[in-house]
Amino acid sequence: MPIIVQKFGGTSVADAEKIRRAAERVIRTVKQGSQVVVVASARGKQTDALIADALELNPNPPMREMDQLLSTGEQQTVSLFAMALEALGQEAISFTGGQIRMVTSSDFTKARIRSIDAGRIHRQLDQGRVVTVAGFQGVDEGENITTLGRGGSDTSAVALAAALGAEECEILTDVDGIHTADPRLFPDAAKLKQISYDEMLELASLGASVMHIRAVGFGKKYDVKIHVRNSATDMEGTIITHEVPQMEGVVVAGATVQKDMAKLSLIGVDNVPGNAAKIFAHLAGAKVIVHDIIQTEVSPQKANLSFMVVISDLAAAKEATEQIKAELNCQDIFVREDVALVSVVGVGMRTHYGVAEKMFTALAKAQVNIDSITTSEIRISCAVDEDEAEKALQAVCVAFELDKPAELRAKV
Ligand code: ADP
Ligand code: ASP
Ligand code: MG
Repeated sequence: MPIIVQKFGGTSVADAEKIRRAAERVIRTVKQGSQVVVVASARGKQTDALIADALELNPNPPMREMDQLLSTGEQQTVSLFAMALEALGQEAISFTGGQIRMVTSSDFTKARIRSIDAGRIHRQLDQGRVVTVAGFQGVDEGENITTLGRGGSDTSAVALAAALGAEECEILTDVDGIHTADPRLFPDAAKLKQISYDEMLELASLGASVMHIRAVGFGKKYDVKIHVRNSATDMEGTIITHEVPQMEGVVVAGATVQKDMAKLSLIGVDNVPGNAAKIFAHLAGAKVIVHDIIQTEVSPQKANLSFMVVISDLAAAKEATEQIKAELNCQDIFVREDVALVSVVGVGMRTHYGVAEKMFTALAKAQVNIDSITTSEIRISCAVDEDEAEKALQAVCVAFELDKPAELRAKV
């Protein structure tokens, strides 16, 4: 019998009525002839509330205790979900991450999945039960509870789908699928029928919070068909899949804005071999994740180097760069905390010209100044003033006609 993993996000299980409706959906899927594994998030804004509780008692809580606490949100949902299923006549059993041996690294609050024991779930499914699994959590080798980072239930679901050999992993959420932009910021954004793993990886890394980035990485690596859809309707959503030739025809699949960014510039670093390596080794040692590096030689003797970090990594990034400033003979470190990154993403950029020009013209017409520009094969990003981020996104979405499905846009 095919296995389907259905992941319900926080808003889709926010109260008893929503859990009951989610349970009815699961039972419909069972009746259609599948074994179903449910992965659920904490209800509503419960994770935020637990974080607030922790910070009230300790502004700098031990990360192990943080994970011990945060994991309880998901544990509550899955037991309630199993009870709702039983009340509707469907046998069910809930498990925490630890109970299904979701073994992770020990990086509390951002642990990475290492292995899963699918055996316990298979045995329950084979007895006709629906299995509900707490998302976002695992255990390390020392049996400490870990969590996978905000939004991490998506990753639990896709990793489980891979481990179980599931036919599909449904990500059931509060939007109709992946859109060309966040519908909360650009309400006219069009829904995509499908998107490639690579495009979704870029979008997720650039702020499209609809999917946890590591979930997409697992999907790509283990060939999991991911279907992002609305938990409240039966409408088809968006399939995240391997690239197919017609995707090349779509120049821009989506646009994003990432507001919680800061930019560090190291001015006048000695232009000698090994300096970039030193800086980034130091940043890696401080566990800082670095985005969008730009280095430019400004004279035979000197170079400027800048990069972006998410604001939560800024303090560590500042400390790390200050520590090696003298060693690099760096003249100054310049920090901007008020930047946002606006990006367009599409595999079609590989084969179409004029994309950069269109983006820069749109920003110029909107009177948005571009601080810096970075590109990859399938994306263009502009750092802009944080206050102008929404205006910039709007301008870019209009220029690329992201309110229309790809087939209705003007050809370039
Ligand atoms: P869940 O609780 O179900 O995991 P999330 O809040 O994590 O839900 O993700 C869904 C939200 O992602 C949507 O409400 C939407 O505002 C946001 N989002 C950001 N970018 C996009 C996009 N490109 N397409 C669809 N939704 C997006
Ligand atoms: N409950 C966690 C969070 O709010 C994980 C998730 O929802 O995916 O980030
Ligand atoms: Mg989410």
